[in-house]
Amino acid sequence: MKVTEAPVYRVGDLHEFRSLERRFVYLVQSAAIFELDNLAAAIIDRIAQGRLTHDELILDLEARGFATGVAEESIEELRDTYAIICGDSGEAQARQRAASINVPDSIQNLTSIPIQTLVLNLTNQCNLSCQYCYEYGADKVATPAGKPKFMNFETAKASVDMLFQQAARGALQITFFGGETLMNFPLLKQVVIYARGKAAAESRAVTFSLTTNATLLSPGIIDFIAENNIGVTVSIDGPKEMHDKLRVFADGRGSYDIIAPKVRELIERHRTRPIAARVTLTSGAVDVIRIFRHLTDELGFHEVGFAPVTASPDRLYTINDPGMSGVLEQFHRLADEYQEFALRGKMHAFSNVTDTLAELHQGVNKSHPCGAGLGLVGVGPSGDIAPCHRFVDSDQHALGHISMGIDKTKQADFLNRGHIGAKYACHTCWARPVCAGGCHHEAFVRYGDTGHPNLHYCDWIRDWTNKCLEVYGAIAAQNPEFLESFAQRKANA
Ligand code: SF4
Ligand code: SF4
Repeated sequence: MKVTEAPVYRVGDLHEFRSLERRFVYLVQSAAIFELDNLAAAIIDRIAQGRLTHDELILDLEARGFATGVAEESIEELRDTYAIICGDSGEAQARQRAASINVPDSIQNLTSIPIQTLVLNLTNQCNLSCQYCYEYGADKVATPAGKPKFMNFETAKASVDMLFQQAARGALQITFFGGETLMNFPLLKQVVIYARGKAAAESRAVTFSLTTNATLLSPGIIDFIAENNIGVTVSIDGPKEMHDKLRVFADGRGSYDIIAPKVRELIERHRTRPIAARVTLTSGAVDVIRIFRHLTDELGFHEVGFAPVTASPDRLYTINDPGMSGVLEQFHRLADEYQEFALRGKMHAFSNVTDTLAELHQGVNKSHPCGAGLGLVGVGPSGDIAPCHRFVDSDQHALGHISMGIDKTKQADFLNRGHIGAKYACHTCWARPVCAGGCHHEAFVRYGDTGHPNLHYCDWIRDWTNKCLEVYGAIAAQNPEFLESFAQRKANA
């Protein structure tokens, strides 16, 4: 006669972390975070030590002094959240993982997700010649030959009409990009006026933002930006000696001295939205703390975000592994400072933490790393539609043309390849709810495939995500009001 063995427990798909000497778990399938009390911690520890049946687990917990009823309740809670799994060796876990990863049989549905954010690349021209530029540098994907250099109003208007027609009710977002965005400021003005009028006529809300190298900011432009409540991100790489290494004019002159007074004036006069700095870290500019202090304390930026340069590994400006470790160590120090601020109810300007905390707080569990091609598209001067601003003007990556709309087959192909379900190397990674394989553009530059997971930085990403979890846990434990107001602050940003 066959004897049926009782099912045994195993620990589910979770990542444990500690903060302020408390224990927390990040549940990968639900992207939920919770603190472990003594009993829950004892259950997880005991199961991690060896496979136990339910009866064995209860007996063990009773022997440690926990009341049976309370232990049963806690076990049930942990089972409900899949922190622990009772069942045959991993089958249940694999089933749960597959369900959470949502293997891409639903891509066709994703193409019907409305576009809420439109990125208009007003020009593919730039008055700087930054060597690392993804648009003009050695790793560019754009193929602009024979296409217009500046967008005209007809193309912009058709793009805005597409956004209004396709977007669901709720706020619409228009972002202006380049090349250098302000080289086509007259069109930017026209678009803002047109979209505002359209939004008013349809009783809808539209918000605007732009990214600029700040060289062309003038009092008149600043007035318009401030009056129209346009969010601004300035591409700037730190103090003069770092910024001027690569952010140069065609004749090699650095641009810092031109932009610094303009940035100060912008920050002084545009007071309704936080002004953000976006720093590209390169091998010659990895002094994160110094850059941060300069941009906040000396120039007055409200937010500063850092991103390592996107480039092939053999470029001179690519940061090597020791360099990336140094960046991470400095990120940790700023994150500690962020935590101290948050525990006192104060906002800190390090937006890499803000952005990750926002995602952790919302419990995001991404099917794709970002909104590219999924709620967001970029349109180039030619009217080509691209997954995002970085793919604009690239024939290979076009998702259609503004005259015909989005090509659903191409969009489905892009989303199919970028879906977490297709990134098998990510399926056992606890950081996948927030990473989902990383930027499609970086994947293409590194691996020649937008759907390839960015495996060159996994350890870095997991370490950084763990640090943000620690900050989140500390704030949740000691100043939860900060997190409540945090979502609102992000929504208003
Ligand atoms: S790219 Fe790496 S860190 Fe990101 S989800 Fe995949 S395995 Fe995890
Ligand atoms: S593909 Fe990369 S650059 Fe484009 S929106 Fe996504 S993360 Fe940003």
